[in-house]
Amino acid sequence: MAHGWLAKLECPRCCYRPEVKDAANYLGCPRCRAEIGIPVNYLAMSAPATGEKFDKALARDPNLGIWRWESLLPVHSEAPITLGEGNTPLIRLDGVGKRSKAGSLYLKNEASNPTWTHKDRLSAAAVTAASVLGASAVVAASTGNHGASIAAYAARGNMRCIISTYTWAPETMRTLMEVYGAEVHGFERSEQRYEMIAVGAAESGWYPCSNSTWPPVGSPPYGVDGYKTIAYELWEQLPNQSIDAVVVPTGYGDCIRGIARGFDDLREAGVVDYSPKLIAAEVFGKISRSLRSSSNDLGPESVHPTTAFSISNECTTYQALDAVRSNGGRAVSVSEEDILGAQVDLARLDGLYVEASSAVAVAAVQQAFRSGILHHDDTVVLVSTSSGLKDPGTTAEFLAQRKRRSDVGASDATPSQSDGIQRADV
Ligand SMILES: [Zn+2]
Repeated sequence: MAHGWLAKLECPRCCYRPEVKDAANYLGCPRCRAEIGIPVNYLAMSAPATGEKFDKALARDPNLGIWRWESLLPVHSEAPITLGEGNTPLIRLDGVGKRSKAGSLYLKNEASNPTWTHKDRLSAAAVTAASVLGASAVVAASTGNHGASIAAYAARGNMRCIISTYTWAPETMRTLMEVYGAEVHGFERSEQRYEMIAVGAAESGWYPCSNSTWPPVGSPPYGVDGYKTIAYELWEQLPNQSIDAVVVPTGYGDCIRGIARGFDDLREAGVVDYSPKLIAAEVFGKISRSLRSSSNDLGPESVHPTTAFSISNECTTYQALDAVRSNGGRAVSVSEEDILGAQVDLARLDGLYVEASSAVAVAAVQQAFRSGILHHDDTVVLVSTSSGLKDPGTTAEFLAQRKRRSDVGASDATPSQSDGIQRADV
């Protein structure tokens, strides 16, 4: 158990404040669950953001990971757990940007994190919070990135780690979880995964580091705020530009909520005066439908098999809807073929091979420019959450299919139409 302290929690809808140490906090606000039948994730009530705090953070060593920004985070420990996460590159996309007629399109490359995913920002904060609370173990439900990341940070913090995953989880992801020493359990259905976590949290003092309830509520608020550092770094990396939109692959909305809160801090401190639209890039269209109907319908939606398994949730969360709405944002859903086409586009035009879930954001950006959601003089950042090497087999199949189609039926194709990038026809 590390000495430290955690900020208080509060429900953003009804302002209920639970005890920080209450093991049931992973269920979200009990009042909202009872009143409107929707679990609402708590927010961590950090101290006010100030320009002085940002100035001091900028002067600190970027190799401190997210803890460079500790005065703006809700987790404080004498021994924060870090693997040097964060401080990831922001890369201008000249190739895809030109195709989309985008003036200023950037990619935040979160594959540069220690376990090659943005989840490391959440894990550093959530596992440190668990150590401050004296949890007996950390536990997460995950198909891959989240579980592998939590497992790595648990190893770093010398904590026991339990992951509940699906029996069909990709072998690469399962190996990643196991190599860090996590105890990995496979289940057929979501509810079974969450039931194991609920029992462990209530009876054995495990600390849930992911969504762990049904209907979903999202990850623990202390972990969600780890994503605030993405907004801070974007401000640092684009100091003289107003960012018009940030496009984020979205399932349960931890990341988009964290980024929204990061920009809230920047405005509160008076260091920026703009409010970027947050655009949720999704595969099943559930956020889009709820936004159109002005409802809090979180699903479940009918789903289909998708290569974007990291965001293949049949439900979304209140926090995801709230983050998008509060910034005038939108949601864009894309087809399966567009995802894999965008993955290849980005690799061939800009030299970046991202995971399929990140390619959802690439495809969504292209679609948003075509539909007028984004304007061609906008400054746009898309968040790329992980590397294509998490699932190269699917890419290999897609490339082979394209080659077969090209060989068979492309007698009138020009070389540029048959080289695997034809879908970016904007
Ligand atoms: Zn509430």
